[in-house]
Amino acid sequence: MIKEECGIFGVYGISEAARYVYLGLNFLQHRGQESCGIVSTEGKSLYKQVGLGKVLDFFDEPKINYLEGFRAIGHVRYSTTGSPTLVNAQPITASIYKGAIAIAHNGNITNASLIREELLKKGKSFHSSSDSEVIIQLIAEAPFDNFTDSVRWALSRLEGSFCLLILSKDILIAARDPLGFRPLSIGKIGDNISEIGDTYVFSSEDSGFSIVEAEKIRDVNPNEMIVISQKGFETFEIQSKTPKPRRCIFELIYFAKPSSVVFGKSVYDYRFEIGRRLAKEYPVEADYIVPVPDSGIVSALGFSQESGIPFALGLIRSHYIGRTFIEPSQKIRDFGVKMKFLPVREVIEGKRIVLVDDSIVRGTTSKKIVKLVRECRPKEIHFRVSSPPVKNPCYYGIDFSTYEELLANRMESMEEIARFIGADSVGYVSVDGLFDEPKIEKNTFCRACFDGEYPTAINEFSKDGFENEIKEQHLK
Ligand code: SF4
Repeated sequence: MIKEECGIFGVYGISEAARYVYLGLNFLQHRGQESCGIVSTEGKSLYKQVGLGKVLDFFDEPKINYLEGFRAIGHVRYSTTGSPTLVNAQPITASIYKGAIAIAHNGNITNASLIREELLKKGKSFHSSSDSEVIIQLIAEAPFDNFTDSVRWALSRLEGSFCLLILSKDILIAARDPLGFRPLSIGKIGDNISEIGDTYVFSSEDSGFSIVEAEKIRDVNPNEMIVISQKGFETFEIQSKTPKPRRCIFELIYFAKPSSVVFGKSVYDYRFEIGRRLAKEYPVEADYIVPVPDSGIVSALGFSQESGIPFALGLIRSHYIGRTFIEPSQKIRDFGVKMKFLPVREVIEGKRIVLVDDSIVRGTTSKKIVKLVRECRPKEIHFRVSSPPVKNPCYYGIDFSTYEELLANRMESMEEIARFIGADSVGYVSVDGLFDEPKIEKNTFCRACFDGEYPTAINEFSKDGFENEIKEQHLK
């Protein structure tokens, strides 16, 4: 299973802003479940609540009531650099010469280690092992008194992927890296319904706007920094020249919700079209197309329509397993997957089944799912994957971190992979298939985890991040 990255949500210009952000974060929960947090302001102070676990588990009425003000930003996190401790939970905050500041970051800064070392040598100190703290320190370091100029200067020094929401007592800034790896959209609630002008909303995924009855205006552009203050809405370029974008294709394949429109493409339509393409590239005779829920469902529908083979829910997902679930012992190794997926014997027994999933990364989960389905005695199991083989690590915020852990990197042939996961056959959609059928422009997307063509310079500091020498533990 791929662990998601992060989600960010922010609101400017409405009373009880934190409640709106709470709703938005709950919608974005699929993008990260390790920690969550909100920072708000009424113009005099920043109010902060961050904690480990999911939004609904961590926040309660007193915590939300504490978060005063008309502006707020929030974050749900899966750690890609930095360990899952409270000190790395976001938004992160600091008091710097230019005032109190909070940052919510989705992405991974590939030159963070180098900048951190440079700043440490200058006498700066760090409280976390998160690459996001480097951004705050750079803003503090910037050779300007003006807050907006300082942020722009700091962002122009970053490499890698970032979607950011930055809050000071008077300003909310939203920014997207020049290559536009991750999505960020801007919406508006009503017309001048607050005392301080227009109400703007930012979300990692635009379908989160409907939760707070906001209307989408547009996406934040790659290389754009939007500043919202009493002066109104201003927009700046981060770098003087905007390069060709390299948006993460995995946002469409897996991360985003099917209800969202990401990079101008409906996620639902995209997955359906990829399912159809997969059926053309790897046809198979079978009785049922069975999705691995939830992210395999839409591609399985496309596969079913193209192949004419009926779609059936042969695996039911339980949504009630939290991170608090404790496996009873190492001996019961399939317990986790059994608690997550329940096979429907009536669909599977004696039938030729095509299992459709969004990806195979390490292969361990796919192997457990195939074993689970086999227990219901199907005649055959064919595994079809709506992404190409993942052969290379991601340095831009997703947890495929080393070559060794990737199944398609260890095994060359489809037969070998099929044998490893226990299926009768395996088929992956091709790299061209990701772009031809849904008609999206191939060279505006990052697909480095499939073809190894990284859109930024990668060096030994790009991924590993840094170990925090101060260890701490927060038990829920
Ligand atoms: S390497 Fe893969 S997962 Fe990472 S940003 Fe590029 S396409 Fe997305």
